[in-house]
Amino acid sequence: MNQLAKKIALIAHDNKKQDLLDWCAYNQKSLQTHQFYATGTTGQLLQDRLGFSVTCFQSGPLGGDQQIGAKIVEGEIDLLIFFWDPLEPMSHDPDIKALLRLAVLWNIPSACNVATADFLISSPLFTGGYERQQPDFTTYRQRALKLKESSHQA
Ligand code: PGA
Repeated sequence: MNQLAKKIALIAHDNKKQDLLDWCAYNQKSLQTHQFYATGTTGQLLQDRLGFSVTCFQSGPLGGDQQIGAKIVEGEIDLLIFFWDPLEPMSHDPDIKALLRLAVLWNIPSACNVATADFLISSPLFTGGYERQQPDFTTYRQRALKLKESSHQA
């Protein structure tokens, strides 16, 4: 198992799927040593068109974004490439927002357009053994809660 292999989540909305396919095809050589996770339709396309080996979740609107979000929380994703469509309202907008929020919360390098993805993949940190800083949620977990006295007896 390649120690430097990154677990990369790939997602593209329908109007952005061609952009993602083109980006992956162009960068196929740099990407081939990594592991891929994707929402259902995106993953299927990457398998069929480019021969990528992808762990596919449900399609985004069926919960796939949430499944990838859960993987982020479990520490199973190192990088997120998510070409979302800024011109179309989506049935699963709350899920998209939740996924993007988790990526920020857990300090996951994320690209939401081709230019940012180009910057990510051409960074020396992409090929090196970059250890992203793990956020420390101790203060949050130990926060004082102001709860009312319960009227129920234990
Ligand atoms: P899809 O989902 O890859 O199944 O099309 C993408 C999304 O809408 O989040």
